[in-house]
Formats: sequence, structure tokens, C-alpha cells
Amino acid sequence: MPDAKPSPAAPENTPDNVKSGAKSKAKAKPKPKVTNESKLAKLGLRSDMDLVLHLPMRYEDETQIRPISDAGFMGGNAAQVEGLVTACDIQYRPRRQLVVTIADDSGVLVMRFLNFYGSQVKQFAVGARIRARGEIRHGFLGAEMVHPTYKVVEEGDPLPDALTPVYPAGEGLSQSYLRKAIANALKRIDWRDTLSPALLESLELQGFEPSVKLLHNPPPDVDEYALMERTHPAWTRMKFDELLAQQLSLKRAQQARRAKGAAALPVIGALSEAFLKALPFQLTDAQQRVLAEIRADLRESFPMQRLLQGDVGSGKTVVAAMAAAQAIDSGFQAALMAPTEILAEQHFRKIAQWMEPLGVRVAWLTGSLKKKEKEAAQAMIGSGEAHLVIGTHALIQEGVEFSRLGLVIVDEQHRFGVGQRLALRNKGLDEAGRTAGQDSQTVPHQLMMSATPIPRTLAMTYYADLEVSVIDELPPGRTPIVTRIIDQNRREEVIERVHAAALEGRQVYWVCPLIEESEALQLQTATDTHAALSAALPDLRVGLVHGRMKPAEKQVVMDAFTRAEVHVLVATTVIEVGVDVPNASLMVIEHAERFGLSQLHQLRGRVGRGSAASICLLLYQSPVGQVAKQRLMTMRETTDGFEIARRDLEIRGPGEFLGARQSGEAMLRFADLEKDQWLVEKARNLAQMLLQHDPATVEAHLARWLGGREEFLKV
Ligand code: ADP
Ligand code: MG
Repeated sequence: MPDAKPSPAAPENTPDNVKSGAKSKAKAKPKPKVTNESKLAKLGLRSDMDLVLHLPMRYEDETQIRPISDAGFMGGNAAQVEGLVTACDIQYRPRRQLVVTIADDSGVLVMRFLNFYGSQVKQFAVGARIRARGEIRHGFLGAEMVHPTYKVVEEGDPLPDALTPVYPAGEGLSQSYLRKAIANALKRIDWRDTLSPALLESLELQGFEPSVKLLHNPPPDVDEYALMERTHPAWTRMKFDELLAQQLSLKRAQQARRAKGAAALPVIGALSEAFLKALPFQLTDAQQRVLAEIRADLRESFPMQRLLQGDVGSGKTVVAAMAAAQAIDSGFQAALMAPTEILAEQHFRKIAQWMEPLGVRVAWLTGSLKKKEKEAAQAMIGSGEAHLVIGTHALIQEGVEFSRLGLVIVDEQHRFGVGQRLALRNKGLDEAGRTAGQDSQTVPHQLMMSATPIPRTLAMTYYADLEVSVIDELPPGRTPIVTRIIDQNRREEVIERVHAAALEGRQVYWVCPLIEESEALQLQTATDTHAALSAALPDLRVGLVHGRMKPAEKQVVMDAFTRAEVHVLVATTVIEVGVDVPNASLMVIEHAERFGLSQLHQLRGRVGRGSAASICLLLYQSPVGQVAKQRLMTMRETTDGFEIARRDLEIRGPGEFLGARQSGEAMLRFADLEKDQWLVEKARNLAQMLLQHDPATVEAHLARWLGGREEFLKV
């Protein structure tokens, strides 16, 4: 329908309104007006095409009425029944509720409403005909439904002849409003297929228009099972389109990156050599291999974009420092950004201790610096006096201007939000471009580090734009960590064990339970634990570190622990990331059943860093759920980060694995990376072909599927 006008409330994504959308984000937020449009916008539904691509998450079958007597045997599935009201009472035991009984020829059904209005009571006049839909249970009084959806009907009122779609809806957005908005959008959009008939045939895919229409309004004879399982050809087409858009966008980002210039950092000079000599150890073979890969990238005059993966404790930091040394040797600055202040601080101390004696100026920048200190740091960075800058995401905030930024290193990159990663990249782009005196297309090289290994399917999609280096070997002399699972009620014994270990000169982490619902409660628990352990271990020094402490206070405690003046460090998960105190060899994690697998792995990685045999005690509180039990068993069985990531993926699925919040709108909505692997490969091949031979199709497809959101896929 090319002549249909987009409605003013839901405009198509034209370049203009995409831009203004981005602008309004940066500026002060408009006053919150809660209209249906703003609720739609919250779901990312801004244009007609967005609405059309907002596909049902499931369907309800309202096409049939079942006799009450056998509706209960549907095995937990919802059923629809119809009957006449025989009684309607408000009961007060066990609590106030409306109890309505209806009957058909086959039996009697009790409907219960715990929240109800007076008007509802009137609707249920004896003799009224009610069509009710819900899950039937067999209660005390026979068949019953709690809070069914229902309506008052006349005898012989027609049933819908198709499945009823149920859409993902935000708070306060009704299904009927969504259905109407989508139905309207379906009338307005341009249905042209982005893929030619010939292509569709060779790919064995259905057309776009029939697929979309079928999913919104499934015909009566549709294969319901295939629809619900998302194996129907209409779903396949949607998944393919979505994957194709993602592959196109990733490949284009990669091409764009390759097309940009970067300052070549070819010099492996005095600093690099002196640094290597000053290290108290030899690099492992794996470290040398990845370093060679990074060195080769840095010599190029297009930007490196490399992910350095290595299990917890594999020695990524020193490799990053070597990369920084090469940038500095080549006359440029390097920046190292870490996700927490504690980790940034550790990097700062360690690297400053390694490099300052060699004449390197290292600047320190975090949000908690005093204004004067911050200005001093910024001045050093801006003048180029600082060769290396280490800090938190304060590095990407306004007012930080680099003189000659050649390399950006992001530690534990998966911890940063998409927006932050994007900001850092753009920062580098502006700053390096402007100040290096080259044209504005120059960007710094980027090295990202992560201890969370990425399974192949994910790497192929989300990280398709990255080269990957893997450190697959731990430094020598480490003894594997032994992990035990212990009932929380044996806490006394565990405290005894901590005592014995400390007397042997070992240091201990005691990790407090994660309390997701309440940060205040979590702090309280940490303080209580600290008090209890201090009392139980009067001859030991027990320290406490948590997220709400001032950075200076944290630092005092961490320093004391590093110098072995504190025996037992009670900590919240602030120590999860990167903390490195090799003498610590015993870790206790309370309520381990509450933590996720990768979090447990990260935590446990704080021990086993020195030569002493390390132990990790996972305390649990019974009863433990099935999934939590699986996690604890996995922790006991293996210390291999890749194996743990694989099991984690199995237990949680890829969406959660990536952290839906972090990956934001880049998440796939329809395709499932595990089940739809074959489609990923198909989409990848087609993307390659289209980019080479058919730019018009590329544009059309990206416009349809990504609108203005493409930026996110590049991160
Ligand atoms: P991660 O990869 O988890 O970031 P780190 O870089 O913190 O690991 O390294 C863990 C510990 O191992 C540090 O104390 C570091 O100094 C040490 N280390 C790194 N490389 C080697 C090596 N080749 N030989 C011995 N120790 C090493
Ligand atoms: Mg690290």
C-alpha cells in the first residue's frame, strides 16, 4: 500500500526521526507522560514496522469449548468452557473472595476471584451464560479455576475461528490495545519483500508478507504445534530475516572499521624490552602467542579490534601491559579501563609498580577523585604527559581529552554495558582523530579482555566483528583448587578451618551472601558476618570490604590484605572481578546456591593464584533447588572456565548468558542460537553475498529490521 500515510503517532523510522530520537536521549528527558504511545515506545515500538514485527509470544486457543467434565484433564493447559451461573457468593474464608459456580451438561465448575469489583458480582446473575478460560484444577469442591478470563455471552455466540495471539506487553498496555495498534500498522506498511523471489526459492523460505500475516492472524487450519514451537515456515522466515539483519550489520561494522585508519604502533623498543626483563617471571607459551598476535595487529594502520580471552588467573594483565608498552614505545598514549574501582586500582598499582621505574608516567582517573585531583589527571592526559591512563568508566566521561590515544584496553569487557563500550569507542574516535592531527577517520586500536569464554555460536553472531586470542594455559606452579560443598549448618567447623589455615600463614576470603532484593540487607549481612567472625576469631585480624565503602577506605583494607596484615577478608561480591592477592588460598562462599555459575567461577578465581594448594568451600542452605544444585556440582567437578561457560549456557540459554540488560536491543528476539544454528550459517553466507553484489537489498533489509538501532550491534 504505497500511498498509505504513516500515522503521526507511529511514524516510520525515517533518518530524521531516528536522529531526533538519539538527540533527545542525550538531552534532558522530556516530562514523563504516560500515554499508550509512550508505553509502546518503551517496548521499542515506534514505527509501524516495529509494530508489525512485534510478533506474538504465544497463542490462546479460544476456538473451542470443552465440556467441563473433561476440560480438567488437559494437563495444566488452559481450557475454555461455557456454562450457566448457578450460584454467586462472596465468601470470607480463608479470605475475602468471589466464588461463582457455573454448570454445563457435563459438570460443575467453581470460579474464584480474589480481587473483584461490585460490578462483577452483578454480571454473574444466576442464569447468565459465561464463557471462561483458564487452567482447571481439581480442588476440594471439584473442578475449579482461579481468576479465569471470562465474558458474558449469549447462547450460540460465535467462537473465533483462529488462534488468538498474545503479545509481549509492557506494564499497563492491554492486549486489546496492542492488537488494535498492530492491526492498524498491518494496513499501512510497505509490504515489499526485501529478498527476491529467486533468492527465497533457493533458500526455501516463505514470503515476508504471508509469513507476518500468518503469525498475527493464524488461519483455523494452521499447524498449531509448529506455531507454538516456532518451527512453522512463517517463523523460520522471521528468524532468518532477523539473523540476516544482524549478520549484515556486523559485517558492515567490520568493513567500516577496516576502512578506517589507525595510527600504526610499530615500535617494540626500549620500554617493551626493559619491561619484559623486569618481570619476575617468564611469559607462558600461550601468553607469548597472543602477544605476537596483538603486536602484529598494532603494527597495522587500521584499528585492531581484538578480544583476549583467558581463564581467570591466566595472566591477561601482563599481556595488556605489553601492548600498552608498544603503544608508548611508538609515541602514543594507552588507556586501560576496568569495570570496578577496586580492580582499576589494582591494575594501577601493579602496572605503575612495573612501569614507573622505567620512566612511564601513569595517570589514575576514577569518578571518586576530588575535583582538583581529577583536573590534575585530566591535564596530564590532555598534555600527553601521561603515557598510560588507568581508571574506571570515568575515562569515557566528558572532559577527558587525550593527546595521542593509540590504544584502548578494556578489562572484563562483558561487565560494561553496551552504552559504555560504545562511548569509549566514540571517544577514541573523536579524540585520536582530532588530536593526532590526522583526518577524523582515525580510531585507536582496541583490546578487550574477558575471562568469560564465549561459545562458538555466540562468537559467530554477537562477536563476529572481533578477532579472538585465547590464553589456554595457566602460569606454571599453580596447584588446582579443590572445591567442597558444605551444609551451612556446619559453619562452626568451617570457622575452625579458617582459624587453622590462618595460623599456617594462609589468607582467607569470606564471601557474604548475595541478597539481590536489597542492597541494604546485603551490607547489613556483611557487617554482621564481620562482627561474628571477629568475635569467633579473636586472635586473627578480620577485615571488611564492601561496595558502599569510600574508595579510600576500601583501599586501606585491600592494602592491609595485600600486605598480609589482615588474615581474613570478609567481602561482598566487590571482590568478584580481578582482585589479585596470590597469598590468599582459602575461600568461603556463604549461600553459594544464590550465585550464578560465572560469578562463582570469578569468585573462586581469587584463590589458586599462588603456589599454595587452594581450597574453596561452598556453603549452602538446604533445601537447594534443582538448578542451583546443578551449579554447585559443576563447581565441584571442574575449574575449567570453558567447561563452566558451556554448562552455564546449557542451564541458562544464550539470552541470559549474555546478560539481556547488557546486550540491550542487540538481543535476538525470534531466533534461538542453539536451535537455529543452521539458519545462522545460511544468514551468514547470504550476508556475505549481498554485501558484495547487492547493496540495495542490504539497505532495504537493514532499514526494515534495525531502523535506527544499528549502532548497538557493533559493540
Ligand atoms: P587474569 O587473566 O585473571 O586477569 P592476572 O593477569 O591477574 O590474571 O594474573 C594472575 C596472576 O598470575 C598475577 O599475580 C600475575 O602477576 C601472575 N602471572 C601472570 N603471568 C604469569 C607467568 N607467566 N608466570 C607466573 N605468574 C604469572
Ligand atoms: Mg584480570
